[in-house]
Amino acid sequence: MTEPLLCDLSVSGRRGIRYPAPDVPLSKLPEGLVREDLPMPELSEVDVVRHFTRLSKLNYCIDQGMYPLGSCTMKYNPKINEETARLPGFAGLHPLQPVETVQGALMMMYELQEMLKEIGGFAGITLQPAAGAQGELTGVLIIRAYHESRGDAKRTKILIPDSAHGTNPATSAMSGLDVVQLPSDARGNVDLEALKKHCDESLAGLMLTNPNTLGLFDENVIEVTRLVHQAGGLVYGDGANMNALLGIVRPGDLGIDVLHFNLHKTFSTPHGGGGPGSGPVGVAKHLVDFLPAPLVGILEEGDKDTPPLYGYATPAKTIGRVKSFQGQFGMFVRAYTYIRMYGPDGLRAISEYAVLNANYLLSRLRDAYHLPYDRVCMHEFVLEGMWADAPGVHALDIAKRMMDYGLHPPTNYFPLIVHEALMIEPTETESKQTLDAFAEVLLKIAEEAHSEPELLKSAPHITPVGRLDEVKAAKELVLCCGVDPFERELV
Ligand SMILES: *Cc1c(COP(=O)(O)O)cnc(C)c1O
Repeated sequence: MTEPLLCDLSVSGRRGIRYPAPDVPLSKLPEGLVREDLPMPELSEVDVVRHFTRLSKLNYCIDQGMYPLGSCTMKYNPKINEETARLPGFAGLHPLQPVETVQGALMMMYELQEMLKEIGGFAGITLQPAAGAQGELTGVLIIRAYHESRGDAKRTKILIPDSAHGTNPATSAMSGLDVVQLPSDARGNVDLEALKKHCDESLAGLMLTNPNTLGLFDENVIEVTRLVHQAGGLVYGDGANMNALLGIVRPGDLGIDVLHFNLHKTFSTPHGGGGPGSGPVGVAKHLVDFLPAPLVGILEEGDKDTPPLYGYATPAKTIGRVKSFQGQFGMFVRAYTYIRMYGPDGLRAISEYAVLNANYLLSRLRDAYHLPYDRVCMHEFVLEGMWADAPGVHALDIAKRMMDYGLHPPTNYFPLIVHEALMIEPTETESKQTLDAFAEVLLKIAEEAHSEPELLKSAPHITPVGRLDEVKAAKELVLCCGVDPFERELV
């Protein structure tokens, strides 16, 4: 299958736009500013619209079908979020406007901070970080600053369980701490004996992804946070998986000192394709003074006749700024809308259904696939994509075969502690009918793996491109004219 390229469609002299007559005197552009040899395709409006519409249909998106990427929480994004984010009073603001002229926007940010505090059980929130990983970096820098402010600079060790998200060790290392990996026990919890061995005077903290990347809630979390605190360390909670906990557990109540939220997962702001994320960070009381500046605060209390005056505030021992301006403002509006639309009971229902959906799907698949950590799961679960009696079939083959059935594959080969991991997160927005259809496909593929393994190994068969060299495709993206990017290449 070959898609025509825009330059193939080009006809000399064809035009898609008409400029209005200029209302300023014409003058020549300075020499050298215009490249004469830029090969711009010449096309009509119809050509261009059809080309991009055709291309858009080659993509898969959350508005088209289920997107079971474990760890990514690809839930449906309600369209009301987009409407509010586009309200001119929000979308048309400039970040440097005087505070008197942006009181509504500041009030929304202030209330979002307050709502996230309550959801997470924290004393302070910064909305600045632009993603989960940047929230982690912010949190770890806060932990460092806390120890340093107490003259406790020897605390340089940070413990990271092997079931943590990959960003945890990366951000810790970036912040200059020494990363030590902790093993999991047979039930997928942090190994307490291993933890105890590291609880000493060099301990800066521990980063806990909970639920972890196996989709399991750490059954000993209270003991984990107690041990770390007893040794003088702090606990970082990776809250990207709050979709399993909303209204049920508050990380702050478990002894977590600092945690990032992923607005672009739990609170349904769009993600993927490199779009903006947002990773607000919540902290317990003893860390509030270290939060990045500025925070949104109330400068003057209001009364029954006057609303409060909102403005910016700088915490006493702030680690500084981690993002330009106010952060990803458009994401705040979306998350704020989402939280206000659901309300407290609705948020709890989100997590109840996310966990129910994952367990329902797991119950339909558990006889056909190997489940390495056999427990009730939270919002996601990890299967092994291999069978002893179907040698040669791998998780990758299963993932590719799913595309032939029109499904987006789950996360695979992550977490690393499961050999051929298929990490499935259905989210609460999928109906029983969608989950059943998904389960039927995976059951069929498990059968095919045994009866017709070649079908899996050569998949996908119906997509515009076959199996790409994924590393090369990402590093050497070919978009220019003259090369056919849709040439099938099987590796
Ligand atoms: C997605 C995720 C992150 C990183 O978030 P980004 O916004 O992609 O940087 C960290 N931890 C967990 C558990 C996640 O699922």
